[in-house]
Amino acid sequence: MLRAVPGTNDIFARAREFPFREPVFRYIVETAEEVLRGAGAEMIHTPIFEYLEVFEKGVGPSSDIVVKKEMYVLEDRGGRTLALRPEPTAAIVRAYNQHGMKVWPQPVRLFTWGPIFRGERQQKGRYKQFHQIDYEALGLSDPLLDAEAIALMVRIYKTLGLKHLEVKLGSVGDPEDRSRYNQYLRELLRPHAERLSEDSRARLEANPMRILDSKDEGDQAVLAELEVRPMLEFLGPEARAFHQQVCRYLDQLGISYSVDPTLVRGLDYYVRTAWEVHHARIGAKSALGGGGRYDGLSEMLGGPRVPGVGFGIGIERVAIALEQEGVAIPADPSPALYLAPLDEAGRIEALVLAEQLRPKVRVEIGYSPKSPRKALEEALRKGARYVGFLGEAERARGVVTLKHLESGEQKELEPLQLHSLFEGP
Ligand code: AMP
Repeated sequence: MLRAVPGTNDIFARAREFPFREPVFRYIVETAEEVLRGAGAEMIHTPIFEYLEVFEKGVGPSSDIVVKKEMYVLEDRGGRTLALRPEPTAAIVRAYNQHGMKVWPQPVRLFTWGPIFRGERQQKGRYKQFHQIDYEALGLSDPLLDAEAIALMVRIYKTLGLKHLEVKLGSVGDPEDRSRYNQYLRELLRPHAERLSEDSRARLEANPMRILDSKDEGDQAVLAELEVRPMLEFLGPEARAFHQQVCRYLDQLGISYSVDPTLVRGLDYYVRTAWEVHHARIGAKSALGGGGRYDGLSEMLGGPRVPGVGFGIGIERVAIALEQEGVAIPADPSPALYLAPLDEAGRIEALVLAEQLRPKVRVEIGYSPKSPRKALEEALRKGARYVGFLGEAERARGVVTLKHLESGEQKELEPLQLHSLFEGP
């Protein structure tokens, strides 16, 4: 029997594991959608795959995605190389440029949700196909938009019912600040290169900042020993003022956060503001989501300057956090009426009646004729409010026998009466 690729998951209502239950997924997506639309963001769906360059140039040559060859790359028939999206931002910036959104009133606030693909080693909370909700505010470089993005992200988590949140805010500075910091790190780490992991050694010349984010224990031991100065100490005056302004705005919004001077993010395109949201109960290394500013990204893609700020929320991670906090997820509505044929001829009668009633109420029909007792059991199992029996006796009188499952009250109704019973208030 063929099985799904490890690290990918089927998402359906009765999935055994909580994060893969479709109502949980839908609850997260619909909540986020309501919050983001409420702030004027419009939904965008970009293709699941793009030309490889969009992501390669976008996420940068020293990101995990490129260094560890995490991208799923495919050859198109025309000889062009494509990639399944390993993150949504570069594609959204590509779309912004392609559709001339620069002439729209700025900022342009967009959001999307959908699958993301990374060939990572599988572990709990880390998958090869996972899902993100993604928000971007494009066109302006203004700390107010960074504060708004953080506020929206926090409000999504809180509206979902999560409590144990921790917002970590940092700044990765401007490109000049980063190159000074990288130079400092190179000089500091070079003498200890042989003690670093292979991945970190590969990053030492290109982007040593990313070593700070290494999950390797040996790397972390070296870093602790060297008492590395944090990025925040290397900010130039402009990036510093920007960072302080974001902090002031968050204070005014009453959003709790902690400044994490060491915060670096996995993608190369970030400048200035970077943040992560963690959940106290699922461990420090597994963020619920992250975001940042990426003012140079559009130019990296060969476009004009389009500053932007945005975030990605990992849906499966949020689902894990919801489970750990025991948040009740709204159940799917049960059918108002379960129509049960008692004989063969009742089957199509049930279907005709169900189709007439369906615009108004949720009606399920029993597929095969059953005894009234069996049909009742089935209706109870489905959580229906009413069960309607359609058998020979009903046919002869042109009625449906309707039983209210809670009170047990039973009466015969003609189709017209049935319609008015389910007529809205
Ligand atoms: P990133 O684009 O790496 O900043 O990721 C944003 C969010 O997506 C993270 O904070 C996680 O919640 C989630 N995420 C990232 N990678 C994975 C993965 N392999 N599996 C599941 N969730 C992930």
